[in-house]
Amino acid sequence: MQNLEKNDYLSADEIKEIQDEKLKDLFYHVYHYSPYYRPILDEQDITPENFNGISQLEKLPFTTKENLRECYPYQMAAVSMDEIVRIHASSGTTGKPVVMGYTENDLEEWSLAVARLCSMAGVTAGDIAQISFGYGLFTGGFGLHYGLEKLGAAVVPFSSGNTERQLQLMEDFQTTILVSTPSFALYMAEAARENGIDPANYYLRLGLFGGEPCSDTMREEIEKQWQIKATVNYGLTEVIGPGVSGECLEKQGLHLLEDCFLAEIVDPQTGETLPDGETGELVLTPLIKKGFPVLRYRTGDITRIMPETCNCGRTLRRMDYITGRTDDMLIVKGVNVFPSQIEEVLDEFKEVSPHYQLIVHRQKSFIKDLEIQVELTPEGFSDSFREMESLENRIRQRLRSSLSLSPKLKLMNPKTLERTTGKSRRIIEQEGDE
Ligand SMILES: [Zn+2]
Repeated sequence: MQNLEKNDYLSADEIKEIQDEKLKDLFYHVYHYSPYYRPILDEQDITPENFNGISQLEKLPFTTKENLRECYPYQMAAVSMDEIVRIHASSGTTGKPVVMGYTENDLEEWSLAVARLCSMAGVTAGDIAQISFGYGLFTGGFGLHYGLEKLGAAVVPFSSGNTERQLQLMEDFQTTILVSTPSFALYMAEAARENGIDPANYYLRLGLFGGEPCSDTMREEIEKQWQIKATVNYGLTEVIGPGVSGECLEKQGLHLLEDCFLAEIVDPQTGETLPDGETGELVLTPLIKKGFPVLRYRTGDITRIMPETCNCGRTLRRMDYITGRTDDMLIVKGVNVFPSQIEEVLDEFKEVSPHYQLIVHRQKSFIKDLEIQVELTPEGFSDSFREMESLENRIRQRLRSSLSLSPKLKLMNPKTLERTTGKSRRIIEQEGDE
C-alpha cells in the first residue's frame, strides 16, 4: 500500500507547486476536450498560451449546479464515453439530476482521496468497516467503499436499512468502524437498547459520518452511546463525491486535501475571492478527475478556511463546519445575514425557545429591515417588564456584535409562534412601505 500521509505534511509552497502543475494539466485537458468549457474559455480569451496556472485561478469561469444540470446527461464529458467506467448522479428532487462520469484513473484517484481521509480519522488496515450508506447513484456508499478497501480495511457493504440485521452482523462480524449518517447511528443505538443490548458492548471504535450536518450535541450523543470516536467528512457529487475534506482525531474542522482539490471562499454576492478566515461560499475545483471535469464549482455551502495549523501537525489547511447555504442568505442593508447565525445567538439564551421567525420588510427587491420574533420558554417568561427589557437588550447586543447589524427584536409569549418544519418557512416576507 502507498504511503497515504505523504502529502499531509508539505509546506505551503510545496502544495502550491503541486496545485499549479495539476491545474495547468487540468486546464489543458479541459480546453482541448471539454465541449462545455471550450466555447466559454474562447469567449473570454483564456487559452493554454496565456493561462499561467494557480495565480490566475480567479480568471477561470465559475460552474453552478444549474450549469451541470443543463449538461444532462453527458455534455460535461471531456473524454470519449468508451473511457467512462462508472456513472453517478445526485438526487434530482428539483429539476434534472447532476450526472458525473468517472474514468478508471478518476476512480483510482477518488479512492485514494477517501482512503487518506479515513486514515486521518484513525482507520487502519486491521479494521472491519460496515457501510450503512445507501449504495446506488449516490456517491456516499461507493466512495467510502473503495476508499476503505484502498486503505486495506475489510469492508462490509451492508447498505442502508434493515436495522436488526445490521446490529446482528455488527456483533457477529466484530465490526469496528461504522460509516453512516449521524442520525442513522443514533437510531441504531436506540434500536440496540430496545433489544436489551448496550451499544457500548459492540466492537465499534470509530464512526465516520457524512451525508447530512452533524451538530455538536449529535456527535456527543453518538460518542456517548456507542463509546466511540466520531468524525465527519465532506464531499459532494458535483465535485467528485466524499473525499474532499474530513476531520482528524482533533475534531477541530475538516482538513482539505489541498493537493487534490482547490478550495476558495468567495463572496456569494459578488463572486470576489475572500481572504483566509473570512466566511463566504465554498468554491471547489477537483484537480484529480478528467472524465467529467469541473472548474470552480459554486457549492452554495457557507464556511471559511481556518488559517491556523492543526494540533495534529498536518499542514493541510482546514475548512470550518458548514454554517448555512447561500440560498438561505438575506442581504440586509448590504450585510449578509444567515438564519444560522441568528440561531447560534438565540441558542446562547436559555430564556428563549428554538422557535423564531424572521420578518423581512422589502422595498422593491431590497431588504429594508429585518425583525426577529423569538418565543420565550415558559421558564424564561416573566411578568416583570424590567426583566424582559433587560433580556431583550442582552439578546440585541449579541445579535449586533454577531451580525454587524441591529435588527428589530420582539420577544413573544410562550407557544405563540406557528410550529413549522424547514428553515424557509421561518422567513415571512412583507412588501412595500410600512
Ligand atoms: Zn488535524
